[in-house]
Amino acid sequence: MSDSPPQVRLHNTLTRRTEPLDPIEPGRVTIYTCGSTVYKYAHIGNLRTYLFGDVLHRTLEYLGYEVRYVKNITDVGHMRDDQLDSLSGPDKIELAAETEGKSPAEIAAFYTDAWLEDERLINILPADLMPKATDHIGEMIELTRRLLERSLAYEVDGTIYFDVSAFPAYGRLSGQKVEETHAGHRVDVEADKRNPADFALWKHAGEHRLMSWPSPWGEGFPGWHIECSAMSIKHLGERFDIHTGGIDLKFPHHEDEIAQSEGALGHPVVSVWLHGEFLTMDDAKMAKSAGNIIRVADLPAMGYEPLAFRYLALTAHYRSKLDFTDAAMHAATSGLAKLRRAAASESGTLDLSDEPMATYRSRFRDALSDDLATPRALALAHEVASASDLTDRQRAALIRDFDRVLGLSLDAPQPETVLPDGAAELLERRAKARAARDFAASDALRDRLEELGVEVRDTPEGQVTARR
Ligand SMILES: [Zn+2]
Repeated sequence: MSDSPPQVRLHNTLTRRTEPLDPIEPGRVTIYTCGSTVYKYAHIGNLRTYLFGDVLHRTLEYLGYEVRYVKNITDVGHMRDDQLDSLSGPDKIELAAETEGKSPAEIAAFYTDAWLEDERLINILPADLMPKATDHIGEMIELTRRLLERSLAYEVDGTIYFDVSAFPAYGRLSGQKVEETHAGHRVDVEADKRNPADFALWKHAGEHRLMSWPSPWGEGFPGWHIECSAMSIKHLGERFDIHTGGIDLKFPHHEDEIAQSEGALGHPVVSVWLHGEFLTMDDAKMAKSAGNIIRVADLPAMGYEPLAFRYLALTAHYRSKLDFTDAAMHAATSGLAKLRRAAASESGTLDLSDEPMATYRSRFRDALSDDLATPRALALAHEVASASDLTDRQRAALIRDFDRVLGLSLDAPQPETVLPDGAAELLERRAKARAARDFAASDALRDRLEELGVEVRDTPEGQVTARR
């Protein structure tokens, strides 16, 4: 059994291939993740994306890499409509400030705290650095100036546009042809652009603008995309290893980031682009407009432990869609409980490089190294939980070791579910009725539990309850 870490392979959106990770500096990996636009609560769909970044972060550290992880905070420049990055509509932060009667800085601080609290509830490790867009206006102006100097941008009345026709690689990441990309840009309000596909790097500030800064082109504010070019280059260097984000950021946000960064520096900046798929809710995309927004902090009121959501996210590969349903959350709750039971034994000090533990660990590392195959890693944890060639102590030690990546607090005591008076007795009677295959009695007991506000589901692990 070799102790050298397995070769990590990741699916690079840019090349559309799963490739070996080849860090610029051996043994050290630099990662940038596009963080939240802090004008409203992040929902569990957003959190799924940050969870996948966390699994990447934890996996690389588990495998022995030193990781430098930067995740930004977007507190300016993101216009109301994600797809139509145009001058139309107010800035998201400003709009929220107006609606809630607060300053843009208060809005950003409030929703940043809420987002980080949600991340903490599902054990997302803090990034090494969380730079704010408003702290990097100077860097954004400097990048814009360089793009003008290199004839990759042009000015119209204090607004600077990136000239897509001057950057032939535009569209390489998303696979969009330049002629098609104008579908995502509103022409009517940006009639001064040379090409409908061009996008703003810096915008002239109108009269009612709350957040604006002086620039060589007059008072203005940055476009949304330039911030990530400026912050990633400043904090990770002119070449770094991995850039992650949700699939919805692939175009235009990341396509535009590549154009800006590579245009300004004249060489590739990011080696690997990773994109996480959507979370759906009962098969519908989770979006504010659809009215199906759930926060991580809302989960306990729905009867779920936030870590059951983390478990649910691990059951799907990050490049697959995942549906959030009651049935899936009940199954996750039950799976989480099973792993906790297996991790509960006193493990003492065991040498994990002894057989047969070493073989299980090696399989765990192989699963994660295979483009972060968390469903396989989780299945392996369950295999360990009931493996006949392991002792209780060995099972507990291995599962706690795996938890360095799974991040499920498996060694924490089981959270107590507070049940109303009488519910525990009814549950016990129902379990006996089911064991005796007396389904009429079992159903009647389920009804009585429902009257007490306790919802019961049957899973392979037994009865699972949730409070209504
Ligand atoms: Zn970004």
